[in-house]
Amino acid sequence: MIGSSVVSRTRSWTALGLMLGLLTTASPAALAADCPGHPDALGTSRTLVVDPREHPLIGTMQYRETLPLRDHEVVLTFDDGPLPKYSNQVLKILDDECIKATFFIIGSQAKANPEGVRKLVAAGHTVGTHSMDHPLTFDRMPVEKFEAEINGGIEWTSAAMTDPSKLAPFFRIPGLMRAEGVEHHLIARGIQVWSADFPADDWRHVSSDRVYQLAIQRLEAKGKGILLLHDIQARTVAALPKIIRDLKARGYRIVHVVPATADRPATPTNPVEWLLHPPTETTPIARWPAVPGFVFTQTKTLPAPSLADLNAQTEHQPLLPRRTMAQADVAATLPVPGRALFAIPEGSVEVLLSTTLSRRAATRLAMAAETPHAAKGKTARGKAAKPQARHTAHAAQAAPKHAAQAKTTAPRPTRLATSAKKRA
Ligand SMILES: [Zn+2]
Repeated sequence: MIGSSVVSRTRSWTALGLMLGLLTTASPAALAADCPGHPDALGTSRTLVVDPREHPLIGTMQYRETLPLRDHEVVLTFDDGPLPKYSNQVLKILDDECIKATFFIIGSQAKANPEGVRKLVAAGHTVGTHSMDHPLTFDRMPVEKFEAEINGGIEWTSAAMTDPSKLAPFFRIPGLMRAEGVEHHLIARGIQVWSADFPADDWRHVSSDRVYQLAIQRLEAKGKGILLLHDIQARTVAALPKIIRDLKARGYRIVHVVPATADRPATPTNPVEWLLHPPTETTPIARWPAVPGFVFTQTKTLPAPSLADLNAQTEHQPLLPRRTMAQADVAATLPVPGRALFAIPEGSVEVLLSTTLSRRAATRLAMAAETPHAAKGKTARGKAAKPQARHTAHAAQAAPKHAAQAKTTAPRPTRLATSAKKRA
């Protein structure tokens, strides 16, 4: 009795394993079969479960990381809906292709058309939010204002849902007007900030053909990624079938992204998979060891090296110069190198890049340093003073607070160590 139950259990496990194997290596033919009535459907190749807390900022248009997609994998995202006239058509096109996408809902749209939100959830799409009224001022809004915008979007979108737990903790900042304060706020709430890897400019006054061309050209340039579209535009509705046909013809696969929950753990990934182009052998910087932070000791001297420090072995001793009486008199210690040895002139690009300047100001300085004029200054040391003075003036403009600080406080060892790393 026990024996036969073991056998049948083994059989059922084998069958389950076979089924799982088929699911994970789903071929396009198998996917089409999963889309009843649509044998040529593109389908959805896999579901990616992400934990917003592990990777809170995604989309290479603005951030370092993006979704851990494999080559030729695409995630479709639609913003600003639901607007029945166009959203329903987008929904139908996606349904006919058995494609699952992610929608970023505007609170006021959900308030006006709650049925539209329910349709998205019923069709199995992922639903995140996109503020209450879509103001394009998130980059300069006071905390209370952007908080109210974020909350309004979440409130009205979840209110439209039969089951509010279906709302994904995904947020896209209107107009991608990112700001650190907004990002920190969202991260603290466990909400993932979605930028994108490429748009198709479907909000601009361009033809649907142009939207289609841009979508494909930009995808081809990156090889994979998150496509940003809008389900409230006639041109998007017109371009979408062509985009999908072309994706299929070019061998692209659709990935559906869902948030991790207590009973749905995140898909295991390696940190480098969250980079669009993981570092390779050709990017040496990634393999350089980090320079350890060093601390200046209080001692004024260091012990002078002895023969033993030189790794001299007994058999080599006769080859080494013999100690003279004068050498024997040499002090047993040497002076510690002074701070000045490591000092870099204030206002130089290296110092400014290594401190707490805003990223934009740092980039501007780095670009200024790359200009032919600055390069000339580098080669002809005598002329270096002029461009340097310009950088300083620039820096004072870009970050007056920092410049003031730099004048009053002495450079700290940790800061010097960081600048050494940058220069390496
Ligand atoms: Zn938008």
